[in-house]
Amino acid sequence: MTEPMLSVERAQERVLEAFRPLESERVAPLEALGRVLAEDVHAGEDIPPHDNSSMDGYAVRSADTAGAGHQAPVRLRVVDELPAGYVTGTEVAPGTAVRIMTGAPLPPGADAVVRVEDTRAEGEWVEIFVAAPVGQYVRPAGEDVRQGELVLPKGTLVRPQEVGMLATLGRKEVPVTRRPRVAILATGDELVEIDAPLAPGKIRDANSYSNAAQVVQCGGEPILLGIARDRVDELTDRIRAGLTGVDLFLTSGGVSVGDFDLVKQVLASEGRIHFWRVCMKPGKPLAFGWIGPSAGSGQRPSTGSGRVPLLGLPGNPVSVMVSFEMFARPAMLKMLGMTRWQRPTVEATLMDEVRHKDERRHYLRVRLEERSGGYRAYLTGGQGSGILSSMVKANGLAIIPEDWDHVPAGARVRALVLDARW
Ligand code: AMP
Ligand code: MG
Repeated sequence: MTEPMLSVERAQERVLEAFRPLESERVAPLEALGRVLAEDVHAGEDIPPHDNSSMDGYAVRSADTAGAGHQAPVRLRVVDELPAGYVTGTEVAPGTAVRIMTGAPLPPGADAVVRVEDTRAEGEWVEIFVAAPVGQYVRPAGEDVRQGELVLPKGTLVRPQEVGMLATLGRKEVPVTRRPRVAILATGDELVEIDAPLAPGKIRDANSYSNAAQVVQCGGEPILLGIARDRVDELTDRIRAGLTGVDLFLTSGGVSVGDFDLVKQVLASEGRIHFWRVCMKPGKPLAFGWIGPSAGSGQRPSTGSGRVPLLGLPGNPVSVMVSFEMFARPAMLKMLGMTRWQRPTVEATLMDEVRHKDERRHYLRVRLEERSGGYRAYLTGGQGSGILSSMVKANGLAIIPEDWDHVPAGARVRALVLDARW
C-alpha cells in the first residue's frame, strides 16, 4: 500500500495538533533564556526607585541658574558631593549646589542638574554657564517601570533584555514552561558509534548528533538512546525502554516509502503510527503518531498516560535535519509555549540554475549573502539527501514551490534563514 501524500502544511498541522505547552517550572533568570514566561511578571517597585541624575555635574535649583551664560556665569557654593550609591541629607538651599555623579539620587531641594562640561569649579564654588530648566538631566523615579505595572506578560520569550529586566525587578526565580525532553534513537545495521573504527560496510551515526544539537538549539533536552539494529526485538526493547519521562520520541531511518522495513513494522505494532509521504525534498517519508501502552486507543492521550508522540524521521543525514526543521522544531516550540514556529524568511535571488525539478517542494541548501540589492542565494553543493557537507556550508534553505519544474539562475525565491550569524 502506498502511503498518503501530504503537503508540508497539512503534515505540520497534523503534527502540531498533538502538542500542547508543557507545565511550568521556576528557574533563575539566566536559565529562563530562550524560554517562555508561564506567568505575568509585575513590578514590585518603581524602577528607577528614586529621582536620579543622568549626568556627572551639579544638582541645583533651576531658579538659581536663570539667565546664566558664558558671559554671565552664576556662582553657587558647593555644599556636598554625592557619588552613585549614596544619599545625602544636605539640602540644596538657594545659592548652593551639590556635586553629583550619574545615577546618584537627587538631593533634597534640587530640581535640575547642570553637566560638568557647562561649569567650572573654583575651590568651594562652582560657576554655572547655562540655565538649567526644571527636570534637566533628572531621571524621575518610575521613568522606566512603574510599581505594579505588568512588565513581562505571560507568553513572553525571554531574551537577554528580559533577563536584565528580571534582575532589575529582583526576580531570582521566574516560572517558565519546562524544556521538552526528546528521546533520539538511530536505527540501522550499518551504523556504528562516533568513536568506532569503520569496519567494511559501516558508517558512523550522524543523525543522533545532528538531531540532538537541533533539540538543544530549540530549547529542549536530548536523550540519546544510541543505535538500534534492524531487528524486531532490539528495536522494540529500545523503544519501550526509552519512553519514560519523554515528551517527544524521534527515530531516524527505516521509514522509506514502499520498503518493507522493520522499523515501520515495529513502530506500527508499538503504537498508532501514520506513515506519510510529504510533498517535500529532502524528507519525503515521515512517520507520526503515538507509541507506548494503549497508544492505539485512538484518543488523544493526556500527559502521564505513558504514551509519547513519535516522529519517525528519514535516515539520510540531510533529510533527517530538514524534517526536524519542518516538524520536530515547531512541535518543540509549541511545547515550550511559543506561538510562532516559523523560521524567518527572506526573499533572495537564486544565483544558480536548478534543472529537472520534480513536483515536490524543494528546500535547497544555500548560502545567503546580503548585498546592496538584497539577498543572494548560492547553492552550496550537491543536493543529494546524504550530502551533509552542503548542509555544513549552508545558512539557509531556498524554497522552490511545487509547481516550478525548472528554475533559471536569477529567479526570486524565498529562503528560510537557518543561522543568523553569517
Ligand atoms: P534508511 O531509511 O534507514 O534506509 O536510511 C537511509 C539512508 O540514511 C541510508 O543510506 C542510511 O545508511 C542512512 N542513515 C540512516 N541512519 C543514519 C544515521 N543515524 N547516521 C547517518 N546515516 C544514516
Ligand atoms: Mg535503515
